Amino acid sequence: MANYGLIEAGGTKFVLGVSDDEGNIAARHQIPTTTPEETLGACVGWFREQGLAPAAIGIASFGPLDLNRASPTWGHVTRTPKPFWSGADLVGPFARAFGCAVGIETDVNGAALAEARWGAGRSLNSLLYLTIGTGVGGGFVSDGRLLHGLSHPEMGHIRLPRHPQDMDFAGHCPFHGACLEGLAAGPSILARWGQSLSELPADHHGADIIAWYLGQAIATFQAILEPARIVMGGGVMATPGLIDKVRHAATAAGNGYFVSDPAQVVVTPGLGSNSGLLGALAVALGI
Ligand code: ZN
Repeated sequence: MANYGLIEAGGTKFVLGVSDDEGNIAARHQIPTTTPEETLGACVGWFREQGLAPAAIGIASFGPLDLNRASPTWGHVTRTPKPFWSGADLVGPFARAFGCAVGIETDVNGAALAEARWGAGRSLNSLLYLTIGTGVGGGFVSDGRLLHGLSHPEMGHIRLPRHPQDMDFAGHCPFHGACLEGLAAGPSILARWGQSLSELPADHHGADIIAWYLGQAIATFQAILEPARIVMGGGVMATPGLIDKVRHAATAAGNGYFVSDPAQVVVTPGLGSNSGLLGALAVALGI
């Protein structure tokens, strides 16, 4: 049976795996994210130790990435504040070492593909994956294919109405201030209330305000995409009870207009801790 090299590239660590085409992960390993030369070299070294002769390699990576196939810097990290990684070529070292096809997507696009194929979107025609964590991002899969424009979507940077009890906060996005990411990502929560939603008292109004923004965002994405499933992942969504508040807020924001009912279609991820590596596999299988 063919095997695949899987790479979940994160800002603090790279998670590696080897699997068959059904997602059975035979081996896995972690490497700290230091410099591109050191980290990518260690990844190649570990795959060699596994005796890997892959049918393909899939990468699901932190961004921003150049995903334009016609670009000479396809598969490179673009401008990032992360030291050493701006301009890093994530694909080349693996293509040269193993002589196979290498696919790359953002981590959120990888998660969207994996959830659509094996998780919360199985047997459905469309799925929107939103991650609410250090940043906010989204990936949309329709009939098994990712939505792409010139590059990956930047769904975290849509503009939203303001919650009446949150008018004084300028927002935390360095580009737009009060966009979705600037209002609902983890750093914006810390900037307002000094703690994460999970650490705040259960009756603190912060969770209601964040849920209200996420409800507005869901109504916007429903209007544009009408997803059959909306999967909400990321650290902020791990707050106990938040998913129910988001469902209520999205129902109120949509006011019954859209085909799908947020109480039914807004869900937590179905793949748990394997979602990153399975995202990389979905990318490899989609080459
Ligand atoms: Zn923004």
